[in-house]
Amino acid sequence: MPFSKAQRLQALPPYLFKEIDRLKAEVMAKGVDVINLGVGDPDQPTPAFIVEALQEAATKPEHHQYPAYSGMGAFRKSAAAWCKRRFDLDLDPSTEVVTLIGSKEGIAHFPLAFINPGDVALVPTPAYPVYHSATLFAGGTSHFMPLLAENKFLPDLNAIPVDIAQKAKILFINYPNNPTGATADGAFYEKIVAFAKKYNIIVAHDAAYSEMGYDGYRPMSFLEVPGARDIGVEFHSLSKTFNMTGWRLGFAIGNAEILDGLGQVKANIDSGAFNAVQEAGIAALESDQSSITAMQKLYEERRDVLVEGLREMGLTVTSPKATFYVWCQTPKGMTSAAFTALLLQQAGVVTTPGSGFGEPGEGYIRFALTVSKERLATAVERMKKLGI
Ligand SMILES: *Cc1c(COP(=O)(O)O)cnc(C)c1O
Repeated sequence: MPFSKAQRLQALPPYLFKEIDRLKAEVMAKGVDVINLGVGDPDQPTPAFIVEALQEAATKPEHHQYPAYSGMGAFRKSAAAWCKRRFDLDLDPSTEVVTLIGSKEGIAHFPLAFINPGDVALVPTPAYPVYHSATLFAGGTSHFMPLLAENKFLPDLNAIPVDIAQKAKILFINYPNNPTGATADGAFYEKIVAFAKKYNIIVAHDAAYSEMGYDGYRPMSFLEVPGARDIGVEFHSLSKTFNMTGWRLGFAIGNAEILDGLGQVKANIDSGAFNAVQEAGIAALESDQSSITAMQKLYEERRDVLVEGLREMGLTVTSPKATFYVWCQTPKGMTSAAFTALLLQQAGVVTTPGSGFGEPGEGYIRFALTVSKERLATAVERMKKLGI
């Protein structure tokens, strides 16, 4: 091909699932019944009342025209009301809520609003790859903040060099965390706010897993902490909360000026989420939330089956209080890639190597709880036979 890709694409790290996809295809070609615990995509269908709300909304001609760039007024109102009920946040739906075409869209566009070439974003590692790639696309550089077991997978702000902090424009955080399953509390968020204010940095908190808490644990919003709304925004998603990954719907909340920057980028790139999808989103947010309680219970049971099995195998694993990920240490002396390959080739179990999320993820693999507890039990049985 006579066309070379732009440097921003050449600068991207290799696609996380590429090698695994290749191995998976190889194993499947041999006729192995593969159990996929790789990708973080809920296996359960979207609750029927949400699907019905879309069916109804799709028939309305007024929804067939361009939506409002920053979202349907009614959806933003309903998102604000949900945040009031859930986190006791008082948000102005017209300036402090923006509809997103999935939270990934908002996160990916966010640096375009605030990063100039050469600017720094503080990016956790291991992490969801979008924080780094979006920073690159905006011409910025990531300063990586390692998430280590010894710090409960929270970034160590004291380890960030002062000259880097002075150059930083955005600090990304994500709790409950993908891939580590770690959670954060108010004391941590207070430190984040103080750091961000000291160095004049925008905090972008990815709260995609805010509703996936177990054993009665309910993750808080970063914006609940005093001062957070002066410097921060938070990305929410209906994807995991209501099994709606295919629908592409989320919203950002927080500081109005910061959201205005994001809105300006979006107005020049996309033309908003389909109004009928937003109407279905209203049905989801305004529902009695019993589908969420049921989902929590389902994942709790799955988590217990897997974590117990892994511990019986002698592996070191923390039972996550949130997210649908189990972050498990590899057996002594085995790399993430080697352990992932072994589980796939010898047990037909797909997992994700921790190193794929960033170098400090080496020594871990990630299991996603995206199959039934019966299938998980089968996966455990097969893995036990490996005699690790
Ligand atoms: C799944 C996920 C999202 C959600 O993305 P959507 O675009 O809303 O589907 C965001 N952040 C993280 C860390 C995720 O794992």
